[in-house]
Amino acid sequence: MTSFLKFAELCQKVEGTSGSLDKIDLVAAFVKELEDGELAIASNFVMGTVFPDSETVLGVGPSILYEALARACGCTSDQIQETLRATGDPGLVAYAVAEKRRPLNLAAFGRTDALTIADVFERFISISRASGKRSQEAKVKNLQFLFGEASPLEARYIARLAMEDLRIGVGEGVARDAIAKAFGQPAELVERGYNLTNDIGLVAQHAKHGTLSSLNVKINHPIKMMLAQLGDTIPSALQEMRNAAIEWKFDGARVQIHKEGEKVRIYSRRMENVTLSLPEISKVTIKQVMAKSAILDGEAVATGDDGRPLPFQDILKRFRRKYDVEKLAVQIPLHLHLFDLIYLDGNSLIDRPLSERRQLLSSIADSELVASQVLTDNPEEAERIYKEALDAGHEGIMIKNPDSVYAPGKRGKNWLKIKPVMETLDLVVIGATWGEGRRASFLGSYRLACADLDSGKLLDIGWVATGLTDEVLSELTETFKDLILVQKGMEVELKPAVIFEVAYEEIQKSTNYSSGFALRFPRLVAVRDDKSVEEADTMERVTSIYRLQRGRNPKGHVKG
Ligand code: AMP
Repeated sequence: MTSFLKFAELCQKVEGTSGSLDKIDLVAAFVKELEDGELAIASNFVMGTVFPDSETVLGVGPSILYEALARACGCTSDQIQETLRATGDPGLVAYAVAEKRRPLNLAAFGRTDALTIADVFERFISISRASGKRSQEAKVKNLQFLFGEASPLEARYIARLAMEDLRIGVGEGVARDAIAKAFGQPAELVERGYNLTNDIGLVAQHAKHGTLSSLNVKINHPIKMMLAQLGDTIPSALQEMRNAAIEWKFDGARVQIHKEGEKVRIYSRRMENVTLSLPEISKVTIKQVMAKSAILDGEAVATGDDGRPLPFQDILKRFRRKYDVEKLAVQIPLHLHLFDLIYLDGNSLIDRPLSERRQLLSSIADSELVASQVLTDNPEEAERIYKEALDAGHEGIMIKNPDSVYAPGKRGKNWLKIKPVMETLDLVVIGATWGEGRRASFLGSYRLACADLDSGKLLDIGWVATGLTDEVLSELTETFKDLILVQKGMEVELKPAVIFEVAYEEIQKSTNYSSGFALRFPRLVAVRDDKSVEEADTMERVTSIYRLQRGRNPKGHVKG
């Protein structure tokens, strides 16, 4: 059994190391020595994840965390707030507070041994299971127990794990390469396993036993969705492919549907189980998809009385709604457009070409559900479909390579999207300021960041404030209240958890922000509840749009 202290020491070393290669070495040396069970836990922990599946939610916010810390360490919430203002980091607060309290007395808790990685995980399971009226108190008690037993260094990383933000700069890339290195496996095989299962712990165990290739698509386990790259123009996109499959790019939200007999599970783009919110999608799948078992990929579109797509926010309402679902389904009906088939009757189809997957899709699903597809190499024909899609209120077209395999989690050249509008950015909200006067009770403007994959850090790129009505501000303030980590004067630092889709006129170079870029006239387009922080846009994408806009238009506007 490996002690949690050893894990905390690893985190401290990794946190103090800047290069990814050194981080990979440290993590590899650590995971190499672990037993199967703790290997699975630590592989998740090191990425700041507690539970690999989105169905288990830890549900700890700053208020629960600081209450537990105050109780365990015998200090007041004022003292905690003061340390928080000075450090701006829940981990450092936990460290400072734990350092000041009386020395540990393990025997008093009925334990004589040190906290292990598995002990911490067990407590996190209890925390996630707490439900009902007294759930807050139960969560606090479990965390209090952990802090009660932890040394200052352990407390630092327990606090950060509880916030699921470890801040040591280990993301998917470092974890993948470390596992590959530890067990002498090719990084591509580790990545493949991760994209198929979404469970780095399971992947690490298979890497250890040399059985990575046995990992495959499994029904009722969401797999990462294949993504699209932004195409430049229709002719250039067509040139990328021998012959192209053109589909509408529907203005809706992605769904991955797992059908097993009469049982259906629906996963959102974030791989959350949204089955209960989308009953009509389950119904049409059962009625109109003739397969014993299948994993289907498609878009759910909310349609108004005129048959045109409703705004994205309406679809999100449907995805979020947990009660009175049927009532909302009448107001905001959803229509399913299937465009891919990943698995059929016990067999994975991901290595088959798109053309074959589509043929199979058409053979099992009612034609009403299957997105039309036209094979062509003629730019005029593609333009015609593009115009037709826009006229119908959709986003544009997808140009797909009919020979391509289904690449889970990949944003490659085999799916190109053509849209007329400037590409928006999906940015993480990391801070905010309180408003003034009439708006003093609202968080008014929001600090945005993009992800730097090299360092694993979030880098700020500016603020968004304009275009928000009082109603929106009040809703946002509610959303963010429990994510406040630190309050410094009018400014707050927020736990990175929410993605804003932001439009802007131009990306400019700037020395004001750590990304080195700033957005000109940023405007909030949507709160992307369907996206996770891991899906935030990266420095690489910001840089590439910056270059693209300069190349295309001297004024800096990006046009599709
Ligand atoms: P984006 O979110 O801009 O990267 O565009 C990719 C998204 O477009 C996918 O995740 C789907 O939700 C959506 N989409 C709409 N129509 C299609 C289609 N025919 N094929 C693939 N994706 C589509």
